[in-house]
Amino acid sequence: MPLLAIKSRFSHFPFSIFPFLFIFICVYPCSSVVSSSAQGQAEHYRRLREEMVRTQIAPRRWTGADAVRDPRVLDAMRKVPRHLFVPLESVAEAYDDHPLPIGHGQTISQPYIVARMTELAQPRKEHRALEVGTGSGYQAAVLAELVAEVCTIEIVAPLGLEAKERLRALGYRNVEVRVGDGYAGWPEKAPFDIILVTAAAPHIPPPLIEQLKPGGRMVIPVGEVGAVQTLMLITKGDKGPRDIRTREIIPVQFVPLTRTPKKQ
Ligand code: SAH
Repeated sequence: MPLLAIKSRFSHFPFSIFPFLFIFICVYPCSSVVSSSAQGQAEHYRRLREEMVRTQIAPRRWTGADAVRDPRVLDAMRKVPRHLFVPLESVAEAYDDHPLPIGHGQTISQPYIVARMTELAQPRKEHRALEVGTGSGYQAAVLAELVAEVCTIEIVAPLGLEAKERLRALGYRNVEVRVGDGYAGWPEKAPFDIILVTAAAPHIPPPLIEQLKPGGRMVIPVGEVGAVQTLMLITKGDKGPRDIRTREIIPVQFVPLTRTPKKQ
């Protein structure tokens, strides 16, 4: 039947359906191709995360470092899309077993270290956590999967602002990012059940000990800049501010905790 004849049979419609039909026929297959390739990509990264947990985090390490066993922590590592926290040129390496540069001379920690620090903090759903050294926002996102509220401080303003926007875009509503010197902690939000410091300090900053709740846990790399530092677990008892126990965990290498906000 000629097209004109079809058209005339439908000419009693108040408007012609042909433009709509045309758009549907052209656009629908394209949109489903786009969405199926996006699904394919999501599946690709999900598999890389599964592999990362299976080979780098859940087994005992070749260095002798302990495996991470907390199932909630392993699930958070399986869930957070690490490839969205690294610069575009590093996306292919996002799930590899090493730290990556994130600009401004800073790095996103190795996946194992993120998982191990998180496990050492023993996060619970009702906890409030402070992170010093937001960087890309990745560690904050992992924590945000596990606790009620995360406050995170970054001294390099562009990194802090970028991380804030990234975490917002990914839907993390329980993370608050602030630009400033984390040595002083975040007194208005204290006390915290958990404090994670993701930059190396020559000593444990006293304000952070003060802002830790009795029974709280702090994980912090301690040591000199450029040298190998020691990841320490600090637990605070309930007999006052001096009731502190420290445990050495593993040798690590972090960027230094700096003291004055840098102008970029
Ligand atoms: N946790 C980050 C990586 C941390 S790298 C992530 O998941 O990506 C360490 C970060 O600590 C860097 O971004 C550095 O700029 C920041 N930093 C260094 N000294 C700081 C300080 N005094 N206060 C807050 N952030 C600091």
